Amino acid sequence: MPRGYARSVAGINDFAVRVPSPLVELRDETLDRCGIRLYIKRDDLIHPDIPGNKWRKLKYNIAAAKEQNATSLLTFGGAYSNHIRATAAVGHYFDFRTIGIIRGEEHLPLNPSLDYAASMGMRLSYLDRASYRNKTSPEVLNELRDTFGEFYLIPEGGSNELALAGCKELPHEIGINFDVICCACGTGGTLAGIAAGLKPGQRALGFSALKGGDFLRNDIASLQRRAFGGDTGNWSIECEFHMGGYARRNHELDDFIDSFERSHKLRLDWIYVAKMMYGIFSLVEMGRFSRGSTLVAVVTG
Ligand SMILES: *Cc1c(COP(=O)(O)O)cnc(C)c1O
Repeated sequence: MPRGYARSVAGINDFAVRVPSPLVELRDETLDRCGIRLYIKRDDLIHPDIPGNKWRKLKYNIAAAKEQNATSLLTFGGAYSNHIRATAAVGHYFDFRTIGIIRGEEHLPLNPSLDYAASMGMRLSYLDRASYRNKTSPEVLNELRDTFGEFYLIPEGGSNELALAGCKELPHEIGINFDVICCACGTGGTLAGIAAGLKPGQRALGFSALKGGDFLRNDIASLQRRAFGGDTGNWSIECEFHMGGYARRNHELDDFIDSFERSHKLRLDWIYVAKMMYGIFSLVEMGRFSRGSTLVAVVTG
């Protein structure tokens, strides 16, 4: 456990997180030339083990699980899922047993993500791809209950109504006026929540980290309907900046990450955040934002 973070049993209010996360202006010649101001919201600094949008999405789920006297959390993810890691850490800090249902077969030795999850006490179990696709069906869930006993269920990527409520708080932490807030999308839960926290006239723009991310539009709209009773209509998604697909990278992205680090002393997460930032700079250069616009980019992890 990192020093300075008290183990909490009482609840989420005693848990030391850096919220509001810092907001920092990014000074850059491209932005100046195009008349754009860009701020970054450093959610990656919220907590070393439960960073970024993962904390925001899990926070109210932790509270709900405690309220229901649940002792176990069960969730789903791919072998490199940040959500699996974060849920394992939640179990460690908040005294839950955790069960991670991983898509596909077991590969030994465990990759660093799963190795970390196991070191935080998570029990790992594997689901073949066909069953994984049906993971929300009563049959699969009943089987999981037979195997693991009662649990509080957190969906894949953590995106449920309570996750959206946590992400909705993010815009309220921003003390400046801005026009557009940007974030990377996996399941779209973060974008769906953030959009619901905006003022009239502000917009949220998501960048899909997956190839063929068009399905996210439906997912986000239906997440918003479940959480808020309707689609907020103030968001959109760019699906052309996946750089080859989920957890794929190319030289263009690697070069961008290196040059961004040289200029701004910040190494971007390549699975999500770097693709968003690459997309933002591309759109800025294409003139997609009018001169004088102020943008906020969320560094989700
Ligand atoms: C999980 C994750 C995302 C995706 O969030 P969704 O709510 O699933 O869209 C984005 N960025 C980082 C760094 C993440 O770990």
